[in-house]
Amino acid sequence: MELIFEISTAGRRGFIPPKSDVKGYELSDKFKRSNPPRLPEVTEGDVVRHYTNLSRLNYAVDVGFYPLGSCTMKYNPKLNEYAASFDGFSKIHPYQDESSIQGALELMYNLQEDLKVISGMDAMTLQPAAGAHGEFAGIAIIRAYHRFRKDFKRDEMIIPDSAHGTNPATATMNGYKAIEIKSDKDGMVDIDELKKMVSDRTAGIMLTNPNTLGLFDERILEIAEIVHNAGGLLYYDGANLNAIMGKVRPGDLGFDVVHFNLHKTFSTPHGMGGPGAGPIGVKKFLEPFLPVPTVSKKGEKYFFDYSHKHSIGRVRSFYGNFSVLVKAYAYILTMGGDGLKRASEMAVLNANYLKARISKILKVPYDTKPCMHEFVATTEPLLDHGVKALDFVKRMLDYGVHPPTVYFPLIVHEDLMIEPTETESKKTLDKFVEVIDKITKEAKENPKLLLEAPHVTPVRRLDDVRAAKQLVLRWK
Ligand SMILES: *Cc1c(COP(=O)(O)O)cnc(C)c1O
Repeated sequence: MELIFEISTAGRRGFIPPKSDVKGYELSDKFKRSNPPRLPEVTEGDVVRHYTNLSRLNYAVDVGFYPLGSCTMKYNPKLNEYAASFDGFSKIHPYQDESSIQGALELMYNLQEDLKVISGMDAMTLQPAAGAHGEFAGIAIIRAYHRFRKDFKRDEMIIPDSAHGTNPATATMNGYKAIEIKSDKDGMVDIDELKKMVSDRTAGIMLTNPNTLGLFDERILEIAEIVHNAGGLLYYDGANLNAIMGKVRPGDLGFDVVHFNLHKTFSTPHGMGGPGAGPIGVKKFLEPFLPVPTVSKKGEKYFFDYSHKHSIGRVRSFYGNFSVLVKAYAYILTMGGDGLKRASEMAVLNANYLKARISKILKVPYDTKPCMHEFVATTEPLLDHGVKALDFVKRMLDYGVHPPTVYFPLIVHEDLMIEPTETESKKTLDKFVEVIDKITKEAKENPKLLLEAPHVTPVRRLDDVRAAKQLVLRWK
């Protein structure tokens, strides 16, 4: 595709302003640039075609099925975008006086309240800008709590081997040793191991439940008791909340701190570093440690609340990614409590339907019980034909399907982590199964097809190491 500089033709214009009838002003030469800026000269039509064509090189959730496990790439209702674009939300300034932004504050306050109900927590902050950022703030709160109690000995954070990489990274960045606990043969936290592991050095445990295998750990109450009895706290990685909304609440399971990935569960377009929000909720005894400010209400007036006595401080400029908060709130309002519950039910149903069909084609390890919103399959047997999971999913691109997550969680080799979400139809899921079936046959009969895939995409297989090491980010 041509770059916009290559389309440029001298003298073309997109817009010609009317002749000014205001007296001109002569700018002093010292403020004038010596050379005109090198801008492409194009018509409005050129620009529209250029960017439309660029967007067509990309795959997106608005283009097709996007079963990226753990990322919850659900359809994002356009109504949320519409709401976030209202002038009252998009044209306000963070330095505006509280009295002039009562509506925005009310929205943030109500969102905090709704998230408390959904998670079963007592207090919230909307500041963190992503799940990983929420983890960082949440573990910083756990750390501040132990230090406040002069319990300085606790330097270990327990994390399952199935965890997302951000968990050990978060623990480490907060000065903890990340202690890995192995999953048992069913993919659950190994309770006997946990009993041996906890001590007066345990600061806490970070859990995702359902975990990254898509399995719900039913022994969570027992786990909570073991960790609490040892003096540690429980952190809930809420990335998989889409499986349990309205069914069970982390706060009732014994968790002390929870993060949400609003961009996943509550439908904001995300991916490729797009905007997110990772609010955290805490139990009452941790409220004094929350980042400031939160949003509170006195009578009919909303205000920024700086009263948290032992606050870990501010974790982000101003009040969070506000437009993402608006979209999440619009989503919650339009769905309602019953709707959110139904979304979880449909997400779980879709995942189980896919698992039932795909397990007849590919191996599904840890297939001991119904899965939640996602499951993990493996292409390991295809190694005999020289085909890796990466080759398998590159071939999916030729069939116009976005690949699932691969090589995560680390405890399953050559794995595909598949999350269909609630917004896909049976027809879409069936088509996906057909593609998996076709590629599995190709792998056995003509592995070269997979090894050289993709064949029909705008670019062929990329060298992702080189792409990261030799960044070419501007036109020369
Ligand atoms: C996505 C995810 C995270 C990190 O969230 P971001 O919003 O991407 O920072 C953490 N844990 C799990 C299990 C996830 O899927």
